[in-house]
Amino acid sequence: MPADTTTEKTKPEKGAKSKRRSRVHIQDERCKGCGFCIEFCPKDVLKFSPEFNAKGYHPPSVIDHDLCSGCMMCYMLCPEFAIFIERLDTDPTEQPEA
Ligand code: SF4
Ligand code: SF4
Repeated sequence: MPADTTTEKTKPEKGAKSKRRSRVHIQDERCKGCGFCIEFCPKDVLKFSPEFNAKGYHPPSVIDHDLCSGCMMCYMLCPEFAIFIERLDTDPTEQPEA
């Protein structure tokens, strides 16, 4: 029997530009290179930088700010409080994308 695709939830497309405008800020010197922010970002916004910080870790770097949905996952997961998101949209009632 063919799968019923009418009830499938649509996931946010990786690599697609976000409708929400956000800016990712990374404090390189706080980072301990755990990679949580990179692994769990649903939009693949981040990658490891080839550079080392003073502690000898590779902090994340931003591939493209326009991909960021402002979901705050990286901010919530970072154990070192090294990353935060600035939302550039003006409507405070708008819900973030997944
Ligand atoms: S806010 Fe969400 S989409 Fe943006 S970089 Fe962090 S985890 Fe990725
Ligand atoms: S979650 Fe925080 S400590 Fe871990 S790699 Fe990302 S910025 Fe660095």
